[in-house]
Amino acid sequence: MSPDGVLAPMAVADRAPRLREALAAAEVDALLVTDLTNVRYLTGFTGSAGRLLVTAEALVLTTDGRYADQAPAQAAAAGVDVEVAVGATLADQDRTLAAAVPSGARLGLEAASVTWADLRRYEREPFGSELVPTEGLVEAARAVKDVGEIDRLARAAAIADAALTEVAPRLLDRPTETEVGLELDFTMRRLGADDVSFETIVASGPNGALPHHRPDDRTIVPGDLVVIDFGALVEGYHSDMTRTFTIGDVDATQRRMYDVVLEAQAAGVAVAGPGVATRDVDAACREVIAAAGWEDAFTHGTGHGVGLVIHEDPRVGRSSTATLAPGHVVTVEPGVYLVDHGGVRIEDTILVTDGGCRPLTLFPKDPTPAAPG
Ligand code: ZN
Ligand code: ZN
Repeated sequence: MSPDGVLAPMAVADRAPRLREALAAAEVDALLVTDLTNVRYLTGFTGSAGRLLVTAEALVLTTDGRYADQAPAQAAAAGVDVEVAVGATLADQDRTLAAAVPSGARLGLEAASVTWADLRRYEREPFGSELVPTEGLVEAARAVKDVGEIDRLARAAAIADAALTEVAPRLLDRPTETEVGLELDFTMRRLGADDVSFETIVASGPNGALPHHRPDDRTIVPGDLVVIDFGALVEGYHSDMTRTFTIGDVDATQRRMYDVVLEAQAAGVAVAGPGVATRDVDAACREVIAAAGWEDAFTHGTGHGVGLVIHEDPRVGRSSTATLAPGHVVTVEPGVYLVDHGGVRIEDTILVTDGGCRPLTLFPKDPTPAAPG
């Protein structure tokens, strides 16, 4: 994927029909989609208020007057046949939705995004014969990316790679963490990112021992390990990568930390492929780090799915129950954090393919921030 050129279209209109098959399996007749990311996934609508009713026959999207034009325009652009109903108040929208639920239907609600107040309203309106909590129905569909989504994820990864290529040599000029973070963010925007994927992490020296340190005014100096974890956003799709650099001469422990994490990351990627339990990917990383005696210094899960949100299904951790499938896009990001030495984390985003996996993150894993040559 080059950082320019036309992105392949996304098959948005295929998503609701696929979801309907999952509704039958979940023993509901219709689903009220209230998670805004899920609404976007199914319709293309990106507004900040909207609910989508998915029945066997129809899609009904309710929103407020701010989106009277945007909602139908985005759905049409995505090729999705949806009835858009604008209501001034939630109660108005509730009545529209309730009227569209077939009588006697079992209506699924998205348990993770319905508040107690919402539920009380739904219980008052005639929203079908029974309200049924559901979990992860749209999220499971979202985990498998189509060609257009993969194109956006690859573009976002390529922009992050290119930005780090520009910025990494500056690590030798004694910048502060904040300066490095700002420069990365600016460079990604200049290279075509719509935004950053999440708040950029630049963690140097002792700050590196904190896996999610926020950049501060610490100056990066020789002897430091510098963890840089960041990504770009392209048309709603996130990238996520981490590289760790050594500045000048680092000590033997720091060098060994780097080598062990590098080996652990490669071990995780080596086992990733279709049909593989994500916890086995986690175990492959963890075994290498445990063999080095640092099991307790790897304090987080190995990875996560990446898509319309930065952390999504499938999860890649010790207690994960997911199995990888073609089209899954996940990170593999083991780390070792030692108070007296700093931190090392190396993270690639990978695409699971029919035969194994391939990285979307292509930045080299050389710890020296050499000038480009
Ligand atoms: Zn990351
Ligand atoms: Zn990550």
